Amino acid sequence: MRYIEPHAHMVSRTTDDYAAMATAGCQAVCEPAFWAGFDRSSARGFYDYFCQLTEHEPRRAARYGLPHYTWLCINPKESEDVRLAEEVLAIIPEFLDRPNVLGIGEIGLNKNTRNEMAVLEKHVDLAAKHNRLILVHTPHLEDKLKGTRLILDLLKSDSRIQPERVIIDHVEEHTISMVLDAGFWAGITLYPESKSTPARAIDMVEACSMERVWLNSACDWGHSDPLAVPKTAREMRRRGHSLEAIDRLIFQNPLRFLSQCPAFAIAGSALDSAAPQTR
Ligand SMILES: [Zn+2]
Repeated sequence: MRYIEPHAHMVSRTTDDYAAMATAGCQAVCEPAFWAGFDRSSARGFYDYFCQLTEHEPRRAARYGLPHYTWLCINPKESEDVRLAEEVLAIIPEFLDRPNVLGIGEIGLNKNTRNEMAVLEKHVDLAAKHNRLILVHTPHLEDKLKGTRLILDLLKSDSRIQPERVIIDHVEEHTISMVLDAGFWAGITLYPESKSTPARAIDMVEACSMERVWLNSACDWGHSDPLAVPKTAREMRRRGHSLEAIDRLIFQNPLRFLSQCPAFAIAGSALDSAAPQTR
């Protein structure tokens, strides 16, 4: 089995996790900028975090043979402080051309506030000006539907944004169709408790087109599982999905989306490479 982990907060994980992911067939790991579990007190804290994501973490991942990529932003939770957000937005451009940077993310909404919307708009503008891919975080539970609608409306109203260059992450049963119907990519997040279980994720995949969907573990400092993607592949196999279909969902789909960024390259994995043979 081969797969790409397109959303994982590896700075919070141990080297054992890197080893386990590589052993399970992970070919690359992508890390969106995120809330650290506490609010940073200044833009300087973000500067150091961006250095960690673009210099130190790729080196740590490389020891396990894993290419490491990243996305940059100030996350929605800390975006409530608009002044801090503006200071952080001002330092992002100097990191954008670093070799492992994929684009702007994970931006989006947390509580759907006016301030979060204002900062989201600034991030979308930054991505459009620099022609970068976008990764969007959608809010939790009862805020998800409204938040997803607000995000899609904002993105659709900006003529510079091409939906096929945007992934809307953490979709659930009630939001996946509106995301795919509008031409965006959809990310399904696999969590042991909240978000999606493997069985729920595969139900969704079976009900929708697999064309523009990826799976991710979004593992971080909380209760989460860095091996959620390969475990979900096992659930697909148990249900009788072919090895080709599994490879398409967990490897070729993220490869197709991420390859829109010229920085993304995995050795020996051209888009047209053959899927593994079924026995
Ligand atoms: Zn995340």
